[in-house]
Amino acid sequence: MTTAKPRPRPTPTSQPFWDGLARHEVRIQHCAVCEAWVHYPRSRCPVCLTDRLTWETVAPEGTVYTFTVARRPTAPMFADEVPQIIAVVELGVGVHVTTTLVDTDPDDVAIGMAVSAVFEPGDDGVTMLRFRPSQGV
Ligand SMILES: [Zn+2]
Repeated sequence: MTTAKPRPRPTPTSQPFWDGLARHEVRIQHCAVCEAWVHYPRSRCPVCLTDRLTWETVAPEGTVYTFTVARRPTAPMFADEVPQIIAVVELGVGVHVTTTLVDTDPDDVAIGMAVSAVFEPGDDGVTMLRFRPSQGV
């Protein structure tokens, strides 16, 4: 018997991010005042505190900033995912996204490795953002 995995619950602030993923787009907030890129989604810019944040579609690519390989389940419901590669990916605009790598041999992962987005739709209508090694690398 498998316990259900925890799922994200979109909020009014984060809904545009999830809507983007459902359309296979990575959307990140951008500050109209100080030009900062903002992730995770917030109601105010963490740099200058304005609420003038816009949503921009960015390249669905990045590099591995850091990672770990969970060879034992981090919780019982993730037993089917071990070895699970838990990673922080740096997108081209500089923000960091906590994610997992798929279609990847744990022995091949390296900091700085180029990765591309994988959009993983769920039965609950929420699409998850995963990454895999970029083609040709
Ligand atoms: Zn700002």
